Amino acid sequence: MNFHGLSRDKAMLYGLPHIGARYTRSRKWSRSGARRYERTQEWCSICGRPATNCHHVVPVSNGAVFELDTPRGTFPLRSPLFAVCGSGTTGCHNGFHGGAFLKPRWVWDSPEFEEAWWSGEIISRFAPHHPAIYCYGQWEIENTKTGLLIVHRERY
Ligand SMILES: [Zn+2]
Ligand SMILES: [Zn+2]
Repeated sequence: MNFHGLSRDKAMLYGLPHIGARYTRSRKWSRSGARRYERTQEWCSICGRPATNCHHVVPVSNGAVFELDTPRGTFPLRSPLFAVCGSGTTGCHNGFHGGAFLKPRWVWDSPEFEEAWWSGEIISRFAPHHPAIYCYGQWEIENTKTGLLIVHRERY
């Protein structure tokens, strides 16, 4: 598996479901295109207060696009987005940045599902960020200040 210089855990985040946000131009992959996004929910995905902006889960400095090379083809994937309150320096958004007390991870329900991700089986069936990917796993965001685990698993 070619992770293009990223860790396996970081490379795996690309293409996973958003929480309350989306890209506004889903078929453009330009560097600047990675920043074109919007919230789709009014509340913060962490604390439920009014959301003011979006957290780009994988920093753009790690690459706006990750090319997932699989036996089924190459899939250009972008970072998931979370609707959050505050800004890069305040509120929950700061928790992912300077505050660094919010740790997101994606947990597959079984090792087979993770294998199905790397093999391209899931991403060839559903578009990147598709909510059906929640059939195979979930977001777990750990608040290391409070010990609270925030779980996101939407089903449609
Ligand atoms: Zn919040
Ligand atoms: Zn952010």
